[in-house]
Amino acid sequence: MSESTNQEKDIQWRLDDLYQQLSDPQIDAALARAAAMAQSFSGSYRGKVAQLSPADLVEALRAQEEITTVGYKPLGYASLAFAAQTQDAQRQSLLSRVREATTNLSNQMVFFDVELKALPQERFDLLFQAPELVDYRHHLETLRAFAPHTLSEPEERLLAQMRLTGASAWSQLYTEVTSSLRFPVEVDGQRKLLTDAETRALRTSPDRSLRRRAGESLYTVYSDNSRVLAYVFNTLFQDHKITLGMRSYADPIEPTALANELSSKVIEVLLRAVEMRYGLVQEYYRIKARLLGLEGDFRYHDVLAPLTQEEPKYDFDQGRALVLESFGRFDPKMRDIAGEFFEKEWIDATPRPGKRGGAFCSGLLPAYHPYVLVNYTGRLDDVFTLAHELGHGVHFYLARGQTPLNYSPTTPMAEVASVFGEILLSKRLREWETDPVVRRDILSKMIEDAIGTIFRQAMYTRWEQRAHARRAAGVATPEEYGALWMEESGRLYGDAVAFDPLDRWGWISIPHFVHYRFYCYSYAFGHLLNFALYRKYLDEGDAFVPLYLELLASGGKDRPERLLRDLGLNPLEPTFWNQGFHILEELLAEFKEAAGE
Ligand SMILES: [Zn+2]
Repeated sequence: MSESTNQEKDIQWRLDDLYQQLSDPQIDAALARAAAMAQSFSGSYRGKVAQLSPADLVEALRAQEEITTVGYKPLGYASLAFAAQTQDAQRQSLLSRVREATTNLSNQMVFFDVELKALPQERFDLLFQAPELVDYRHHLETLRAFAPHTLSEPEERLLAQMRLTGASAWSQLYTEVTSSLRFPVEVDGQRKLLTDAETRALRTSPDRSLRRRAGESLYTVYSDNSRVLAYVFNTLFQDHKITLGMRSYADPIEPTALANELSSKVIEVLLRAVEMRYGLVQEYYRIKARLLGLEGDFRYHDVLAPLTQEEPKYDFDQGRALVLESFGRFDPKMRDIAGEFFEKEWIDATPRPGKRGGAFCSGLLPAYHPYVLVNYTGRLDDVFTLAHELGHGVHFYLARGQTPLNYSPTTPMAEVASVFGEILLSKRLREWETDPVVRRDILSKMIEDAIGTIFRQAMYTRWEQRAHARRAAGVATPEEYGALWMEESGRLYGDAVAFDPLDRWGWISIPHFVHYRFYCYSYAFGHLLNFALYRKYLDEGDAFVPLYLELLASGGKDRPERLLRDLGLNPLEPTFWNQGFHILEELLAEFKEAAGE
């Protein structure tokens, strides 16, 4: 059957826990039932939310959750079926049909949250304090968080309409310009025109001159388009400044902090703690330069160079065994849960033509178990991805005790089990591998992942803060934004990495600054939080395990700071983040030893 190399099996998920087949009549039945429920919900509550007693409100919130559970099951199924075979016409049409139905459903239900948000303060306080509503306090609090920054209804309507030709149009222009860019690169003696993603991928090539050509092409083409793109940055930064003023925000990062249920202060404490450790990054790249024979001439286009060209292979059974064993050493329950994904066929692992690339874990809703998709080809990275996604899987699985409104973790907590799974795997792998070069490369992978998610993202956030501040003082030229970029890069990399003049264009190619303002800090938060939790595990041993599982089981039922406080952790304290850096220091020490330093 299969033209197997070292992978004999086709690991596919079974979606029949959700529906029997693509044409299952239960799919339409569920959509119809949810629509009828929403109709009756609207009949009972539209225009009446302000009069609800605490007991009535509990009933309404439960009804809202029930409609979600019924109405979103078809969407979960259709999305997963589509991901497994994106080229299949039947799946495409099912997904678009179901999407439309769920959009209608949410439009029908939206009045409820709008009315809740608009309650007079005294009414809201009364509900908020009511013992009946204790399980929904966090949800109410989240809904209300933006109330002090919300304008009157006609103003909000006007702003929403103007946004279509304002900020949304500018970020759409950015996407349209950047996605049409093509980058000329000479590969194997042939001149090719590549996409952004293809060009970036070449920066991990073992061929140094190819890495350099790819980097130069990337930034040359971006700089050729800098007039339009920098105009977009200037306009969006100014738009944000105007918005901050209208909505009475104290600082540019506050709306993001509020949406992520953190205080701006926590983000600042985190960023400062990371900046204090920029030296670790410089130390790592000095060693990497020596290993690559580039001492004294290690340049920015060498940062992503691979240390070795020969990678170990892990067939699927080995990968699965390594991940399950590493989870099992932490806690047998964690291994058993991850094991269910394989036994019950909740995982789609084999690459197939037409299957979605990359990897994800879909938590769906608490009434249905999670699913995992990966594209396993036996590389070291694939084993880590398996541990990462199964970490998410365990997280969702444990959080299924929560109601739908308290189920999904907030952004800063979303990676709390996935990266932890990777840390557990790396420990197991380093013991398992006897080849010192492979052990060194595993450590290098862990350290480079940490640099990419903690340090580089902190540096991006610092640039973003300074760029917003710079724009607030008047329109800035691309050169001025570029100068800020080089200053922040210089602080991070010190003299360990040398830059070429074109490298100053890095900022203009990062879509987060346009589409997900101030989002980058959250990668740093999530990754370092995992290190801090792992440090606590090393200190406290088995006593930590039930506390950690409890944290996962709490899903999104409370603010990150409160959930962490239950574990005796305080992200407002620099010492908390410093605990996380101990893990990185240990990895670096081990790496140095393995590298013969
Ligand atoms: Zn993840």
